[in-house]
Amino acid sequence: MEPVIGIDLGTTYSAVATVDAGKPVIIPNRHGGRLTPSVVGFTVLGERVAGEKAQVLGDEAPDRVAPATKRFIGRRYTPELAHAARNVVPYPLIAGPNGEVRIKVAGRVMPLTQVSAMLLGELKLDAEVHFGRPVSRCVITVPANFNDGQREATREAARIAGLDPLRIVNEPTAAAIAYGLVNSFHGRALVFDLGGGTFDVSILEMEDGVYEVKASGGDPNLGGDDFDARIVQWLLAQVPDLYREAVMNDRVSVQRLRYAAERAKRALSDKPEAFISVSDLGNHAEGNDGRFCQIDTALTREFFETLAEPLTKRCVAVCQQALEAAKVGASDIQAVMLVGGMTRVPLIRQIVSRFFGQKPVSGINPDEAVALGAAVHAAELSNKQGHTVLIDVATHSLSVGVLGGTVRRLLTKNTPVPATAKDTFLPNRAGQTQARIPVYQGESDYADECTKLGEVVLSDLSVEHRSQVPIEVTFELSNEGTLGVRAVDTTTGSAQSIRIDARTTLAQPEVDKLKAEQAAYATEQGEKNSKLVMDAFPRVLDKAERLVRLLEQSAQENPSPAADAAVGQVKSLLAQGRIAIKLADTAQMAEVTRLLERLTAPSAR
Ligand code: AMP
Repeated sequence: MEPVIGIDLGTTYSAVATVDAGKPVIIPNRHGGRLTPSVVGFTVLGERVAGEKAQVLGDEAPDRVAPATKRFIGRRYTPELAHAARNVVPYPLIAGPNGEVRIKVAGRVMPLTQVSAMLLGELKLDAEVHFGRPVSRCVITVPANFNDGQREATREAARIAGLDPLRIVNEPTAAAIAYGLVNSFHGRALVFDLGGGTFDVSILEMEDGVYEVKASGGDPNLGGDDFDARIVQWLLAQVPDLYREAVMNDRVSVQRLRYAAERAKRALSDKPEAFISVSDLGNHAEGNDGRFCQIDTALTREFFETLAEPLTKRCVAVCQQALEAAKVGASDIQAVMLVGGMTRVPLIRQIVSRFFGQKPVSGINPDEAVALGAAVHAAELSNKQGHTVLIDVATHSLSVGVLGGTVRRLLTKNTPVPATAKDTFLPNRAGQTQARIPVYQGESDYADECTKLGEVVLSDLSVEHRSQVPIEVTFELSNEGTLGVRAVDTTTGSAQSIRIDARTTLAQPEVDKLKAEQAAYATEQGEKNSKLVMDAFPRVLDKAERLVRLLEQSAQENPSPAADAAVGQVKSLLAQGRIAIKLADTAQMAEVTRLLERLTAPSAR
């Protein structure tokens, strides 16, 4: 059967997993890592790099890499967004022709879906090395508070990468599946997901394979990068006055400070003090006078916790709101599940324990839980066994803009999805031939405090009196959180429907072009990878031969049917491996390698 994978496309790190012999397992990347940094970049020679290599490149040349692009995917370009981005990422945001966000990296302007496609493409290649054959079917996760446009952009990225998403699943829901499985948990759980760029909280009821989200909340602008930014501010205060202005306005210097801050934050998860040394701080622009400074300092865990306090208060407030939305108290939560790299920070664990009066559940790596859960769900969707039912909720209220700058709500936040809602509206004035129906997302009653998602335009109206042409507007929110809007002129039956995100997705010819480019890159990499697999495989068989000798020896010393079976098993794998070499069959080589690994390292799984 064609393999299926679960992909956690994280802001800072991504992971890919699959189900092997009934258990979810992480697929290591081609460098052996379990997590892949969500960074792509281009070297001076124009070579594309991704993951660890791009992270290393970013240390030296921040203007050549694109980290944390998930923060902007599927969002509409605004000058305010571009301005806010200056404090968190090393690349400028640029408006695309459809109002989408593009970025400038190493001198080239790229749509964000292309960057995500490159990352997804790397994870796909990793999976293909693991399986030794093409992989396209997957479940991809997104933050619960991603809106329709962000979900569609993720789908577009998947299409460009040559992936076929069976479903887009909310990250906390995927994590709950993984934790639920490992801990055989039933009951009411809260998933606390603090990643690099976003914070999500979901309250779920989990019973016999039914995962019902009761409430979901979050802060799309709160994540590890914000904690890093506070350390950066503190570091900037230590830059000598003479240099501070230049350093603050220099992207390369700010990025160096950001990397140093992130490393210090991680170090403080394991020890009470982190030393920070950053050199070459100054104006890196051409024609500068070449004057740079250096800072050497130490950050204690205690002081970091003081710096982080305003952010942790925001985390607690979000938990409180989610509990209120689910109409439960902190003590009604039977299990708290931690997700996201930031939940390794001791202070975050402390505030969670204090607020909920219990220790978070363990048993799974917080930064692997989402990918593992996605893999479990992908496997179930693929073999259509239907053991698991996911019932999610709308993560935002959805409304139509009406007269007086207010909105009329059709779907309320936390309504179970899929959901359909209808309402009837009257055109603004007599004599009107066209009605524009603006669609908003947000919790306010005022349009200017909500986010406009788009508008449906209904033409060819013949309105003599306002009341003559009632227009019926229907919202359909799918179980994946994508929105369809339809408007019908009830007098003529004439209807218009748009996918609300239509505005920021790329034009089809551009998608096709990017897809072809990505496919060409994947073919080239795939060939290199096959060669690597074939070169490495004889060593795998050597190891298996040594294992047979060892097993035979121990079977002689302690004879038993189990010992004989173990010898037989490895011998059979050896035979299959030799045939695979003869046929140059990389899929078979990958299979033999996997089965041997399963036999030799069961505890590592
Ligand atoms: P995610 O988006 O889930 O990959 O989370 C990434 C965030 O977690 C980044 O801000 C990382 O700096 C942070 N992170 C990862 N590992 C650690 C750690 N051991 N200690 C502190 N923060 C970490």
